[in-house]
Amino acid sequence: MTTDTPSTLGPPPPDPEATLRRHSLPSPVTFSVLVPPPADGSTRGRAGRLETPHGPVETPVFMPVGTNATVKALDPDDLREVDATIILANTYHLYLRPGHDRIARLGGLHRFMAWDRPILTDSGGFQVVSLGDLRSVDDDGATFRSHLDGSTHRFTPELSVAVQEALGADIAVAFDQPVPPHASTRSQVAEATERTHRWAERSLAAHGRRDQALFGIIQGGLEPDLRAASTRTIAAMPFDGLCIGGLAGDETPEQRGAALDVVVPLLVQDARPRYLMGLGSPVDLLEAVHRGVDMFDSVLPARVARNGTLWTPDGKLNLRNARHLDDPRPIQEGCRCRACRSFSRAYLAHLFRADELLAYRLATCHNLTFTLDFMARIRRALATGTLPDLVRDQRSGRACSRPTERRESPASSDTQAGAKGGVS
Ligand SMILES: [Zn+2]
Repeated sequence: MTTDTPSTLGPPPPDPEATLRRHSLPSPVTFSVLVPPPADGSTRGRAGRLETPHGPVETPVFMPVGTNATVKALDPDDLREVDATIILANTYHLYLRPGHDRIARLGGLHRFMAWDRPILTDSGGFQVVSLGDLRSVDDDGATFRSHLDGSTHRFTPELSVAVQEALGADIAVAFDQPVPPHASTRSQVAEATERTHRWAERSLAAHGRRDQALFGIIQGGLEPDLRAASTRTIAAMPFDGLCIGGLAGDETPEQRGAALDVVVPLLVQDARPRYLMGLGSPVDLLEAVHRGVDMFDSVLPARVARNGTLWTPDGKLNLRNARHLDDPRPIQEGCRCRACRSFSRAYLAHLFRADELLAYRLATCHNLTFTLDFMARIRRALATGTLPDLVRDQRSGRACSRPTERRESPASSDTQAGAKGGVS
C-alpha cells in the first residue's frame, strides 16, 4: 500500500485532447432503452438493458454492495441464487485493504472474489468525505486518515481512477465531493459542486482503461438551480453513464423527489443510464424508478437482515423477537430464497438468539431476494405499461413492498469507513 503525499503543485490541467479522443471511442458499456416512458407522461420510468464486458444487466436494477469484495455473509453462488446481476464494491475499502495493486497482481477484482458477472466500483469520494474530522478537502484532492490504522492517505481524481483501473470493474465512477444536504450551507454545496465538476474533468482525462466504463456524478444538493447546473455540466461530458449523488442521505422523500424532478427532465434526450447512489428501501426504489432512475445500490437490505429484520409483503419481521420462537412458518410464504425454502421463523429466531453465523447468511439471502424480486416486478410493470398502477397501489399501501426503513446516518452505514469504525 502506498501513501501519496499531498501535492504542492496543484492539480494538473485536464487534457482536452483526452476528452476529445474519448468522445470518438465506442463505450465498453452500452445502454438501450427497451421500454421508453409512455407519451402520456404518467411515469418517467423506463426499462432498459446495460451490456457490459461481463454480461447484460436488465434495468431498473438494484446492486447489492460488496464493500470488502464480498457481500457480507454470501458467496458468489448465493449471489447468483438471489439473482444479483451486478454488484458494487467500494474503492476506498479495497485501496486500504488488501490494496488495489495486490488485487491487480492476483488477476483483478472479478478473479479475486470469483464473481464473473458485472461489477461497479464507486470512487471513494463518499467514504473519504464522510470521514468528518479525519479528512480535509482542497481543490487538488482529499487527505484522510484510515479508519483501520489511522495512517494518512490522499485521494485525488487521478488516484481514484488509477485504483479503479487496477481493480478492473466493468464500471468505474468519477471522484466527487458529496455534501450532506441538511448539514451544508448553500455556499458549501456550491463550492463542493464546482469542485466535483473540475474533478469530473480530471477523472475523464485520467481514465484510459478501454474495457471499463466511467460514470460521472451530478451533485448540487437540494438547491434546484445548483442541481440543474450540475446536471447540464456533467451531462455535457463524455461519461458512459450519469450518477445522481448527494441524495439517499438526510433528505426527506419529498426533497429527493423534487431533486429528481429537476435532474431527469434535463436528461430526457440523453441516452445514458441514470444511477441514484445509495438508495435501498423498496418504497424509495419504486418512487425513484417512477421518476426515471435506472440503477441503485445500498447496503440497507443486507444490513438490516444481519440485525434480524426481515422484509415481507406484510411488513417487517424482527426475528430477535421471542414471539417467533415457536412459529413453524417460513419468513415469507412462497418466497424462492434458501431461507424460506427450508427453514422456519422459529429456526431463524433461534439462530439469531444463539448468534449463529448461518443466521446472517439466510437472512441476507431473504432480504436480497425480496429486494431483487421487487425490482423484477417493477420491470414487468414497466413492460406491461402498469407501473403507474403499481405506484398508486404502493402509495395506498396495497403493494407487495411494505417494508420501509429509516435510512441511518452515514457513519452507521457499512459503506462508510466512518469515524465510528464502520462495520466489517
Ligand atoms: Zn425468503
